[in-house]
Amino acid sequence: MVIVMKAKAKEEEVEAVIRRVQELGYQPHTIRGVERVIIGAVGDERHRARIQALDSMPGVDSVVPILKPYKLASREFKAEDTVVHFNNGLEVGGRRFVVMAGPCSVESMDQLRETARAVKEGGASVLRGGAFKPRTSPYSFQGLEKQGLEMLAEVRKETDLPVVTEVLNIRDLNLVAQYTDIIQIGARNVQNFPLLREVGETRKPVLLKRGMMVTVEELLMAAEYILTGGNHDVILCERGIRTFETATRNTLDISAIPVIKEKSHLPVLVDPSHSCGYWQYVHALSLAALAVGADGLLVEVHSRPQDALCDGGQSLKPQKFHRLMDALRRFAPAAERDV
Ligand code: PEP
Ligand code: MN
Repeated sequence: MVIVMKAKAKEEEVEAVIRRVQELGYQPHTIRGVERVIIGAVGDERHRARIQALDSMPGVDSVVPILKPYKLASREFKAEDTVVHFNNGLEVGGRRFVVMAGPCSVESMDQLRETARAVKEGGASVLRGGAFKPRTSPYSFQGLEKQGLEMLAEVRKETDLPVVTEVLNIRDLNLVAQYTDIIQIGARNVQNFPLLREVGETRKPVLLKRGMMVTVEELLMAAEYILTGGNHDVILCERGIRTFETATRNTLDISAIPVIKEKSHLPVLVDPSHSCGYWQYVHALSLAALAVGADGLLVEVHSRPQDALCDGGQSLKPQKFHRLMDALRRFAPAAERDV
């Protein structure tokens, strides 16, 4: 349920409603807008009538039910777009189309440094790089783990680029959170509900990737697990889903972007690299992402893709990445975005 306060509601009235929501065993989530305060009451739907009765409290304008199964992630709860703010002034979900780029995995200091410098020169705002890798084969490179996180921290210092890196399990969450600016939850963990709950207890922005067999509604339900913990800085990411098509690694569900934008206020990125699996298609899919209303990209770039320990075939060389950034800059005005 959403409790909409009157535009002129007093602070004591807002506080009284929040207390009452808590007394009824519901969790209050307050949004203080420019015009008015909105309080989301999340809890057992069977006691809805008690929350509905709050419309007679002083300062309350209306009490409206949220009909979607996801509540805090829905546009019904929050009509304006969520913008995730970072200490360095970066915003995800605003007018700027934000590009997060870097290697699939952190492999060495030289590889990370070279790639980071190249993506920064091209205009990327965030450096990506996996230290814990979710590999299909247990015999494949699994990531440098803590050493990889230390390298990311070192290169962040050198380049001033915030970093995004994946956490695979609860055991490593504190460690990853100490090093990263954005916690990435990968496609394989999007429905790892205990992990989502723990991430919801942190106050770090989260990049939540859609799973290859996960519907838009299930993705928003996954986001809901993080939001209910009080972590409101969730960035979604479409990274391709499994279909019958084998010409590409996955199928980029480009329609998911306007669908998510309609149903949710959360920012959404596109990962063109895992979507198609071939560097040759990354340029076109990235432009499509901009055109269709995504808030940015998560794209794989490697200084020497031929030597990559993971996903070299879908990684752009620096020069190709620079060409992509130039094209995005040219297209951005038509999409009413800045790059
Ligand atoms: C990644 O971005 O490093 C990754 C493993 O992607 P996904 O979880 O989408 O497969
Ligand atoms: Mn990868």
